[in-house]
Amino acid sequence: MVVVCAAALLPAALRLAESRMRLASMRRQAAARPYRPGGWPAVLSPPVLARYPLAPWRVGVQAGHWKIEQLPDELSRLRSSTGARYGSYREVDFNLEAARRVAAYLQAAGIEVDLLPATVPPGYQADAFISIHADGAARSGVRGWKVATPWRSSPASRELREIMAAVYPLFTGLPEDRYGTTYNMRGYYAFSPHRHRHAISRTTPAIIIEAGFITVRRDREVLFGEPDRIARGISAGLVRYLSGFDPLDPLAVAVHTYPAMRVVADQADLTFYPEEGAKVAARLPAGTLVRPMHVENGWVEVVVWGNRRRFGWVRETELESLSGSS
Ligand SMILES: [Zn+2]
Repeated sequence: MVVVCAAALLPAALRLAESRMRLASMRRQAAARPYRPGGWPAVLSPPVLARYPLAPWRVGVQAGHWKIEQLPDELSRLRSSTGARYGSYREVDFNLEAARRVAAYLQAAGIEVDLLPATVPPGYQADAFISIHADGAARSGVRGWKVATPWRSSPASRELREIMAAVYPLFTGLPEDRYGTTYNMRGYYAFSPHRHRHAISRTTPAIIIEAGFITVRRDREVLFGEPDRIARGISAGLVRYLSGFDPLDPLAVAVHTYPAMRVVADQADLTFYPEEGAKVAARLPAGTLVRPMHVENGWVEVVVWGNRRRFGWVRETELESLSGSS
């Protein structure tokens, strides 16, 4: 039983105020003596200074599939991707309703919001970007939400994902679809500035949420019956994230790339999560080539070369780097 508490946004708002006070005091210190924590640039560019710290945060909220038929030519193959359906329930209607409500909550909290359709402005920059979707599945036994970052993600994107995954279920009571994240979620077209012009900047912290299954009655009752719980959950996650986000730390939004790797152990476990005992998705024979996406606590997140259905985590000790490639 999850108790949804309307006051739960309040601590987040207080933390936001606290963090702004902290930043203001850091600024005073910086004025009193040269002060440069690790990772900060020696000189800040005028645009960064101009929006710090008095300007409100800026967040892009995308209603998935909304006006999909207006995608530019470079994305024309996706114009028919109108989203999930169940009887008269359409994913795009849910996405737009949720996105509008999230935008209203964020604006009420003093945050600047761009409510975005399927087409993202080229190189879109913001303090956070979220694409809102809902899932559909023909098979039974599935339920719940999932949140994913772009394949190559910054620490800021991963932090945003973790916070959203912690906050969203508190408000909605929906379970996590723990093994449901797909390759296409991570490789979402709007996340991919190396492939499309109409995509967010690589340094914009970003996530995509599948808020629940419109094909599942218990999920649908919340998605369509109580959209305000969805919107408050997403808004609270974003506000909590922004309260800890330091716009002056370039490392937080930096995206690391790694050279290709090869499996050296025979039948190396490819797991769903970077931890011992995690569920195994597949076993990889020695010699398998993989594309590394992220390294964490002795585990490497990889996609098997040429097989988009095979991705997950491999122990770092079971891989070798192919120097010179990327
Ligand atoms: Zn969708």
